[in-house]
Amino acid sequence: MARRKKLYEGKAKILYEGPEPGTLVQYFKDDATAFNAQKKDVIEGKGVLNNRLSEFFMTGLTAIGVPNHFIKRLNMREQLIRQVEIVPLEVIVRNFAAGSMAKRLGLEEGTALPRPIVEFSYKDDALGDPLVPEEYIIAFGWASQQDLDDIVALALRVNDFMAGVMHGVGIKLIDFKIEIGRVWDGDFMRLIVADEISPDSCRLWDIETGRKLDKDVFRQDLGSLSDAYTEVAKRLGVLPTNVTHATKPTLIN
Ligand code: UDP
Repeated sequence: MARRKKLYEGKAKILYEGPEPGTLVQYFKDDATAFNAQKKDVIEGKGVLNNRLSEFFMTGLTAIGVPNHFIKRLNMREQLIRQVEIVPLEVIVRNFAAGSMAKRLGLEEGTALPRPIVEFSYKDDALGDPLVPEEYIIAFGWASQQDLDDIVALALRVNDFMAGVMHGVGIKLIDFKIEIGRVWDGDFMRLIVADEISPDSCRLWDIETGRKLDKDVFRQDLGSLSDAYTEVAKRLGVLPTNVTHATKPTLIN
């Protein structure tokens, strides 16, 4: 059997050629990296959880009309997606200060922001994904003003969806990152949500206790990352909460 062609390998995922033109197979690895890959580990089961969670969020977005790359899940670690041309930006939406924003502005982590803030980093690992103003994006041709307006609108819809879903299971959505892809229908270009949405790219805090349920657990050595992701998956009903192991046949008289 011919081996399928690997097109790209990143820190947490591999992209293979899909079964039909315009499709790709996205494989979720167990590798975790932080601080621009200076910290690395293998977290058993992370890929399986993120495959499921990204499916859950993307399917929900589709249901409310937010276009995205997800087609269907293929197996435990792989999903079929639409091939896109990735816009070289990390689109970050923040509801509460944390991470680089808290540091840059001297704000306490968890400070509520006056409104959701959308910001952009230029995707370049060698440069450490620097924060860039819209003017740079337009001047360097990474996206047009119209694209940016559409991207902000998409990002805010994703934020409302994600914040609502998370609130429903007792989790506060602090911030998250998405990536956007271009797809063409003839000459007509559309922007859609691509890459993944998972606890790798969100900050999620338990509303009651403040417990972190995202990649900060790994970044800051706060305990088991797979326990944290499993907790998110369980609350969302993505994994069964009470797996029973009743495999023995029962005698019926
Ligand atoms: N983020 C991400 N990939 C990156 C950088 C950030 O997924 O390369 C996510 C991060 O998990 C957080 C949000 O984007 O949910 C905002 O991250 P921030 O700018 O605070 O950077 P960090 O503190 O993670 O370096």
